[in-house]
This record gives sequence, structure tokens and C-alpha cells, in this order.
Amino acid sequence: MQILTNKLLFISTPVGALGTGLGGGVELTLFNITKEMTRRGYEVEIIAPLGSVMQPFMVKEIPGELQIPGQTQTRTSPITIPKNSVLANMWEYARQVQADYDLIVNFAYDWLPLYLTPFFQIPIAHLISMGSLTDAMDWIIEQVATKFPGTIGFHTQTQAATFGLKEEYTCLLNGMDLSIYQFCNQPSQTLAWVGRIAPEKGLEDAVAAAKITGIPLKIFGMKQDESYWQKILQYYPDMSIEYMGFLPTIELQQELGKCLALLVTPRWVEAFGNVAIEALACGVPLIAYRRGGLTEIVREGKTGFLVEPDSVQGLVDAIGRLNEIDRYACRKQAETEYSLEAMGDRVEQWLKGILNK
Ligand code: UDP
Repeated sequence: MQILTNKLLFISTPVGALGTGLGGGVELTLFNITKEMTRRGYEVEIIAPLGSVMQPFMVKEIPGELQIPGQTQTRTSPITIPKNSVLANMWEYARQVQADYDLIVNFAYDWLPLYLTPFFQIPIAHLISMGSLTDAMDWIIEQVATKFPGTIGFHTQTQAATFGLKEEYTCLLNGMDLSIYQFCNQPSQTLAWVGRIAPEKGLEDAVAAAKITGIPLKIFGMKQDESYWQKILQYYPDMSIEYMGFLPTIELQQELGKCLALLVTPRWVEAFGNVAIEALACGVPLIAYRRGGLTEIVREGKTGFLVEPDSVQGLVDAIGRLNEIDRYACRKQAETEYSLEAMGDRVEQWLKGILNK
């Protein structure tokens, strides 16, 4: 039986440099997997767009034009790759250095790395970070799943179901370094919303619910779509919202922990929802639309409430029931289900399985 020796090449998303927030949850996922695999004795090299920072890990920075995020495409959009593409440049670099590694992990939700799989001499594991969005991506994922069984990894079953794959795949959930997140049992009268500020995240519903309840809302995240943000501000001019900016994890958890609950209001099938497990780790209950990975994270009535999707009244009703939630139960769920170790076991088993084939 072949086992992983110890050299892994991680290739980041081409939609933004690490540390900017443009990559959404992929940035934290990449960080956490790197941290855990390094702790387990693997040597990890990270390739990412120019300007990337992921302390304390070194990143091989690659120049080039950023890729358009998959979530801005329509279902029938063809694949577009810009001139001097950072995606193509990262994979060209990987092609040159592949002999030094046992396996590549692809963190990009993009067609090119999937297409390139048969052209590489070493195996490639693909961690798919969003649900089904375009026909072109669905098709290439299916091709790779058929020709390279077991190399496709998803975060949740609900996410995987959007692709309708008959072939073998793995569900990895996610995990985080719980020692970074402090439990807070004395919240202030504030609700939280965390994420990329973009239409698929449905921030306006959280603002509407907060307005009805009269509880102030703190918003954390990177403004990916400035005009969407401006529209929300114009629509709720008198709203008590506080924009906190895009914070590094240490500061984010400090502020998030002090909130009554996290509102998670996606319009799309959320593949996982890193922000949800980060909130749990701080002892913050979840009030989430019954969509995507959130349905697998929230323990109804114990660590939060799942609400009818797109129902602001549902959010309001759940806010009224927050006293039923024990914040210790939230922290406990994060400890039992989303530790770095638990995620590391799942990732290691997936990668070993690929090498054994
Ligand atoms: N995030 C952050 N600082 C902030 C707000 C958000 O680091 O101020 C991170 C958060 O930790 C999470 C990511 O942004 O890892 C959002 O990921 P999620 O999986 O919730 O959604 P995605 O953006 O991938 O759709």
C-alpha cells in the first residue's frame, strides 16, 4: 500500500490574493488545512496570487490577472480566462515543480485545474468550494469524478447533491483551530452578520430583521460588491447598523463572540458556511436559512434555528427564541464536530485514498 510520503502542493483560488477576503471561505479553509497537515508532519507549499499573505506560512506568489468569481456567472456562461491569467500561471508553475511533490490539492472553483488533471504526472485532489453554478463546471467535475474516482471533495452532502454525481466523492465538512476562538457567555444586545458583502449572501434580510426587532446589527466582511452595499444603505437609511470592516480572525472572533446570534441569510446553496462554525466556536447561536451546508451545521433548538429561506419574519421569530439556546452547547458542538484534528483525519483519509488508487 502506498502511503503519503510528505510533500503536498496546495494551489489557491485565482479570484484574489490570500488575506484580502476576496477568496471567501477558501482562504480560511486553506489556512486550516495547511496548519493541520503541517502539524501532522507534511511539507506543504502554497501557490497563490501575487500579494498573498498567510502568516506564519510562506506562499509562492504568482503574478497575473485575477479570475472572475464563479458566482457572478450565469448557468450557461462559457469559461472565460483573461490574458496573462494568474490561474494559468499558477498551474504552469505547478507543472514545472510537480516532480518535487506527491500530490496537488486544488482549492479553485475553476474549469482549468479540473481539465488539466490527466496532463499532470502526480495526482490532483479537487476541493470544490461552492455548489453547482454553471453547466461548464458541472460537466468537467463529472468528467474528473469518472476518470479519477475519489479525487473530488465537497464540504457537505447538501452541496454535493447540487451536482448530482453518481461517481464516488468525499465530504470533508470543515474544521478550525479552536484555541483561536474564545468562548463568550456574556453577549451584548447586538446581532452579527459575517461574510462577503455580495448579493448571494442576502445581507439585506439580516438588516430587515434587525430593524424589526430593534436590535443593532454588526456587519463584518469584505465589500465585494460596492453597489449592492450602497443599495442596502439607501434602503435602510435610519438603520442601526455598524460596519466593522474585514477583520483578521483573531479580531473577528473577539467581536463576534460578544454578539447575541449570527444571522446567516444566503440566497444560494451555501456549500458550507465557515462563518457558522466560527460563531459556534465563540458560543454564538446561529439563525440561518434552511439552505445548503447550514442545514447540516445547525442543531435545531440546541445551537440555533433553521428558518424558512427568504423569510425575514422567520428570522425575527427565531431572534425572539434565542433565550432557549445554551451558548455552551454551541461551543461544545464546535469542539466535537469541527476541530482541526477531526478535519485533518477526514482530509488525510481522502488524500491517502487518492494516492492508493
Ligand atoms: N471573514 C473574515 N473576516 C471578516 C469577515 C469574514 O476573515 O471580517 C472570513 C470568515 O472567517 C470566513 C469567510 O470570510 O472564513 C467567509 O466564508 P464563508 O464560508 O462563510 O462564505 P464564502 O465567502 O466562502 O461564500
